[in-house]
Amino acid sequence: MSHQPVIDGLEFARTGAKLQGAWPVADFPRLRDALRTDEGTLHYELRGVPEAQGHPGLRLKVDGALQFTCQRCLGALEYPLHIEVLLQLAATQAEVDAEPLQADGPERIVASREMPVHDLVEDELLLAIPLALRHERCAGRQARAAREGQSPFAGLRGLFGGTKH
Ligand SMILES: [Zn+2]
Repeated sequence: MSHQPVIDGLEFARTGAKLQGAWPVADFPRLRDALRTDEGTLHYELRGVPEAQGHPGLRLKVDGALQFTCQRCLGALEYPLHIEVLLQLAATQAEVDAEPLQADGPERIVASREMPVHDLVEDELLLAIPLALRHERCAGRQARAAREGQSPFAGLRGLFGGTKH
């Protein structure tokens, strides 16, 4: 991996710094397991926010497309990815724990002087990707088989050795 920026989190936020770049999807090993193929490129933009609801923060945007497998027809399914998230920075884990987490509030992370941007992006990708994706309308032969009453779990039952109890 050539592009490996590291930021000083609080300094980056305080100065309203900005960083952008791109990585191939293949550079995210923790994401790859969920994907059909690791084709494509993800573009990110990271901005420092001096004050976000009382705390310094980082605003992260990630755009691109990921290649999944449709869970109904098992065909390829391209998923457009648009992440925009505000991360509140805390100086210590104790500071994070001191405030009750709001369900709809921003995510909180502990800032450090050396925060690898790649890890920040990968963490957000893992939170953002859907668990089981399906086409709105499947096309092709496999889809017809599905419509003709084949259970989507038929293949799984085969794997687990039949339906005997
Ligand atoms: Zn499908």
